Amino acid sequence: MALAYSYACRDCEGMETCPASVTAATKEELWKLTELHAEIAHGEIPADWDPETRAYLETLVREVRV
Ligand SMILES: [Zn+2]
Repeated sequence: MALAYSYACRDCEGMETCPASVTAATKEELWKLTELHAEIAHGEIPADWDPETRAYLETLVREVRV
């Protein structure tokens, strides 16, 4: 069993119908995958996310055992 980080897009306000979720061993990788998903699926520009947005997303990250 190892610790990993997971983000489910549907947990994000306004994204309830999005089926995507990402899991990674490090938060650094998780952010990259989350940013890539947001860009591809939602047309977001992660580089423009302000600290409040990142802080909100951070609260949605779950620690999981894999
Ligand atoms: Zn999504």
